[in-house]
Amino acid sequence: MSKEAVVLVDRLCAKHTLDLSEYRFLIENRTPDVVEYVTSLAVEARRSVYQNKVFIRGLIEISNVCKNDCLYCGIRRANTNCQRYRLDVDEILNCCSQGYDLGFRTFVLQGGEDGHFTDDLLCELLRTIKWKYPDCAATLSLGERSRESYKKLRDAGADRYLLRHETADMAHYSKLHPSTMSFHNRMRCLFDLKELGYQVGCGFMVGSPYQTANEIAKDLKFIEQFEPDMCGIGPFIPQSDTPFGMEKAGTLELTCYLLSIIRLIKPNILLPSTTALGTIHPKGREMGILAGANVVMPNLSPQSVRKKYALYDNKLSDGSESAECKAELAARMASIGYEVVTDRGDIKMLP
Ligand code: SAH
Repeated sequence: MSKEAVVLVDRLCAKHTLDLSEYRFLIENRTPDVVEYVTSLAVEARRSVYQNKVFIRGLIEISNVCKNDCLYCGIRRANTNCQRYRLDVDEILNCCSQGYDLGFRTFVLQGGEDGHFTDDLLCELLRTIKWKYPDCAATLSLGERSRESYKKLRDAGADRYLLRHETADMAHYSKLHPSTMSFHNRMRCLFDLKELGYQVGCGFMVGSPYQTANEIAKDLKFIEQFEPDMCGIGPFIPQSDTPFGMEKAGTLELTCYLLSIIRLIKPNILLPSTTALGTIHPKGREMGILAGANVVMPNLSPQSVRKKYALYDNKLSDGSESAECKAELAARMASIGYEVVTDRGDIKMLP
C-alpha cells in the first residue's frame, strides 16, 4: 500500500479533515489494500460510537407526484410512464401504526415535490403523528421548500429532514438538473434546515453522470464542513424513462469505500445502507453495514404503491426491504454480527 495513502488515511482518522486534493488522491488511488485499511478503521470508528447497533427507519413514500424534472429521477414530471399516486392522511397514519407495532421508532415521510402537501396538511399530520407516537422521531424528505415552510413543519413536530445535496459542484449540479432548479437554492434549504434546529441529512449519488473524482472530493469536503447528522449515499441507477436511462450505474465497491471515508470524516454520523445499494447487489445492504453504515430504512408504504415509487429501474421493495419482513432483516444483520434495535436512533453526540 502506498505510504502516501496510509498517511492520509491515518490523518483523516485522527483529525477528520483532508484537503480537496487529498480526498481526490484517496478516490483515485483506491487499491484493495487501501480499501481494506479504510474499511477496518471505519468499522472501528462506528463500533466505538454505536457498538454493533443498527438503527431502522420506516420509510413511507407519500407521493410520487413531482413538479421537478431532475434528469436522473424516475418520478420526474416529464415521465408520462410513471403511474402517479398520493397517499391520504389515513393511509399515512395506517403505515405509522403498522410500523410502530413492528418496532419502528422513526417514520420518514418521503415524496416528490407535490403541491398537494401544503404546510397546513403536513403540520396537521405531524401533530397527529407526534401525539399518537410521542416516543417516535418524525423525519421529512419532501424536497425544497421555503424557510417559512420548514419553520412551520419544525414547530409542528418534525425532528429531522433529509435533503441530499446531490453534488457539491455547481457546474455538475446544472448537468443533473433542469435550469429551473438551482444549486444555490438547494444549499439555502440545507442551511435553513440546520438553523431551524432539524437534524439534517445531505447526500449524493455515487457514479452519477459526469461525476469524476473531482466532484466526489468536493462532496466529501462539503460533508466535512457542513457536518450533517445524516448522509445518504447510494449508487446512481439508470431509470429507463429518463434522459439518463442509458447511462451506466455507480458501483457497489466505490459506494462502500465512500461510506467508510464518510464514517472517518464524522464517526458519529448516521449513515444508511441504502435501498439502491441493496438493488445493485443481493448482499449490498450487508456490505454497506460492513463498510461503516449503521442505518437501514425498510419500506413501510402500502404494498399497492411500492412499485410506483420507481426512482430507478428494479428498485427493491420486498423481502428485507419491506418493513413487514423486519424479522428477515434482523436475521440478515445478525448473520454479520449486528443487532437491529427498537430506538429512535438519534445521533450520538460526542464529548
Ligand atoms: N423529492 C425529495 C426526495 C427525492 S427521492 C428530494 O428532493 O429530496 C430521494 C433520493 O433518491 C434523491 O435525493 C436522489 O439522490 C435519489 N435518486 C433519484 N433518482 C435516482 C437514481 N436514478 N438512482 C439512484 N438514486 C436516485
